[in-house]
Amino acid sequence: MIFCLSKSSNGYQEHEIHISGPAACPRSPDFDKQINLGDFQDCSDAMKLARKKFPDLRINGCFHCVLDCYDPFLTR
Ligand SMILES: [Zn+2]
Repeated sequence: MIFCLSKSSNGYQEHEIHISGPAACPRSPDFDKQINLGDFQDCSDAMKLARKKFPDLRINGCFHCVLDCYDPFLTR
């Protein structure tokens, strides 16, 4: 599965990870507003890479497409 990271933050100052590519999440950002993370088995690997590449960003999974990586407590 291909994952991307949104270049812009949501209302909680988090950058969301979405599924991209052929099975893209309907809520994933426009192509020019996303950073391609690559192809991973599951979202936790994509999340790890994103946090390593962008340590200063608050990164969370999208509630709609990667619920397993969505952390409701990240914002608190
Ligand atoms: Zn999504």
